Amino acid sequence: MRLEDSVNVVKKVGAERTKKFNKLGIFTVLDLIEHFPRDYNDRSSFRKTDEIVLNEENCVKGVVSCKPELFSKGKFQIVKAKINDNNGSFEAVWFNQPYLRNSLKVGGEYIFTGKAVLRYNTIQIESPDFEAWGDKELLSTGRIVPVYSSTSGLSQKVFRSIIKSVLESVSSEIEEFIPEKIRKKYGLCERKFAVFNIHFPESDESFFAARKRLVFEELFLLQTKLLQVKGFMKKKECGACVENFDVLPIKNSLPFMLTDAQENVLMEILSDFKCNFAMNRLVQGDVGSGKTAVAMIAAYVMANNGFQTVVMAPTDVLAGQHFESFSKIFVKLGMKCVLLSGGLKKSEKRRAYESIELGNADIIIGTHAVIQDAVKYNNLGLVITDEQHRFGVRQREALAKKGDNPHVMVMTATPIPRTLALILYGDLDISVIDKLPPGRQKIDTLFVDSSYYERIFCFIGKEIDKGRQIYIICPTIEETEKGDLKAVEKYTEKLKEDVFPNYRVECVHGKFKTDYKNYIMEEFALGNIDILVSTTVIEVGINVPNASVMLVENAERFGLAQLHQLRGRVGRGSEKSYCILVSDSKNKVARERMKIMTKSADGFVISEKDLNLRGPGDFFGTRQHGVPELKIANLYKDIDVLRIVQKASAELYADDPFLQKDENKKLAQEIERFFNRQSE
Ligand code: ADP
Ligand code: MG
Repeated sequence: MRLEDSVNVVKKVGAERTKKFNKLGIFTVLDLIEHFPRDYNDRSSFRKTDEIVLNEENCVKGVVSCKPELFSKGKFQIVKAKINDNNGSFEAVWFNQPYLRNSLKVGGEYIFTGKAVLRYNTIQIESPDFEAWGDKELLSTGRIVPVYSSTSGLSQKVFRSIIKSVLESVSSEIEEFIPEKIRKKYGLCERKFAVFNIHFPESDESFFAARKRLVFEELFLLQTKLLQVKGFMKKKECGACVENFDVLPIKNSLPFMLTDAQENVLMEILSDFKCNFAMNRLVQGDVGSGKTAVAMIAAYVMANNGFQTVVMAPTDVLAGQHFESFSKIFVKLGMKCVLLSGGLKKSEKRRAYESIELGNADIIIGTHAVIQDAVKYNNLGLVITDEQHRFGVRQREALAKKGDNPHVMVMTATPIPRTLALILYGDLDISVIDKLPPGRQKIDTLFVDSSYYERIFCFIGKEIDKGRQIYIICPTIEETEKGDLKAVEKYTEKLKEDVFPNYRVECVHGKFKTDYKNYIMEEFALGNIDILVSTTVIEVGINVPNASVMLVENAERFGLAQLHQLRGRVGRGSEKSYCILVSDSKNKVARERMKIMTKSADGFVISEKDLNLRGPGDFFGTRQHGVPELKIANLYKDIDVLRIVQKASAELYADDPFLQKDENKKLAQEIERFFNRQSE
């Protein structure tokens, strides 16, 4: 068996189980052994029968004293076995598993683990896990037992035994890749030991050693790569040599004065332009903080010095919007913007390519896909990417390796606590636009349950009559089996027919063709649609100042950072705006999270609170930030390990930056594999 083999080569894994594993994101043998336990039960010490504690889990060793009984009661089939040791006895009871009657041998000694209760004056252990006591290693009892995140029809017991047998079959393939020197220096156990003990810890100590090693390993792969990318960018001199720093003309063309926060960030960017190395900067700024204006000025400086700027947006719609706002300003300044979008006709595209190649275009705006295709630039000086979290380390690296070695500026509105940003964007310098432009109205945020629908719809009707427009966000496109979530298509029909027959209601979501999506968004921007029902496709950057209400259905389904982004779609004009979060969730944490939204308008505060409440893991799914998903390390809990890792990576980098020494070859391979995990 090889690590890269598909899971169906594993014993006891047929077509059915393969499907189940796939559902869990497990496709290969390696995926299986890297499916680390989500929790553990300590069943390492046994109790005697007279030490059983009621109403808690007990792990008891005993002998089956007579053939287990099978009988029916109501709709249950019950197997009952009497278990003895020298000190007393108890009954083990299973429901609807009649076959168990024959898997217990009379006179055999077993370990039983399950919850004990007192029934008919007898101690019973309900549905215990059990294993024969003997030569075979115990997997589900009598030890620290792993608990896996699983799916229905794949029991913990089966999971454990499959993992165990796979570990044994591939044991010789689990290779060390952290160089010996580093392993010794930082007291890390060997990889094979770590992988075995993370699944089946021999003791507490071995578990901690295993976890420490695996967390270190994961963060180390990440950090080492980020350092390389950063080094790669820093090392190279940038060809875009800027001499003319005059920004007055463009400042005068903007319809507003820059805020101090915008000025500061602009200064940082311009001073990057002054030195000989390529800029590599993340510009963070809350929704509406005015990142676009800063980007425009940077692009202006480039154009003034004879260099082209590329602006990359995550969607065609957003690219179109940027094109419009850039064009408005740059036309006045005698500079040319070109839009490259998926919707262009062949001839239009050819003309655009031509004007880029000939250097007639100063600013080129489009999606990543379009821009990275085969465009030949004339004199590329600056690459700006908007909404960076959809744009990963790999792409950053690819860009940096492009011939021209341009300056790179990435903009994001996703609020990331500083420590975390330093890790995720270890390869970038960071600027923050930390204040909003003056005169912004506060967006009133309400949290309600579905008993408020009548009032909400009435309110929405009044807003539309005042000339405003409405966003309604649903968590899914199509109805789920349970039907507990609002689905865009169904809900739109209902709103059209039953609730707002006199208004224009339309929907848009990711499954529509680009042309149609663009059409709908345009219609909404022109004010021809009153209510736009959508998934989070509109989360990023859309600017329709006339929209005044953001209604989010099943709001508990969204991350707070995401809700904050959604809320940022309203309150962009002069009208008072509202965000209404609807949720019937009874879950305490969910309700608490909604309350945070009603209380704070600060993206950073919101994301930190969300973090505390939700715990790490799902929040900031690292994937969102273009970094591979972490399987074991936790960027919050393991911050101390991270600091050590940063030191270790820096030492390694100083010694062998591109891992060309023999001792580092395996590590280099592993880093590639780690970043290939990123499937987007
Ligand atoms: P984001 O940072 O979310 O991309 P934008 O760049 O889209 O924000 O700016 C949001 C709105 O604020 C735009 O309508 C823009 O014209 C306006 N704006 C930007 N900077 C200022 C400023 N200094 N004063 C007033 N309005 C501004
Ligand atoms: Mg923006």
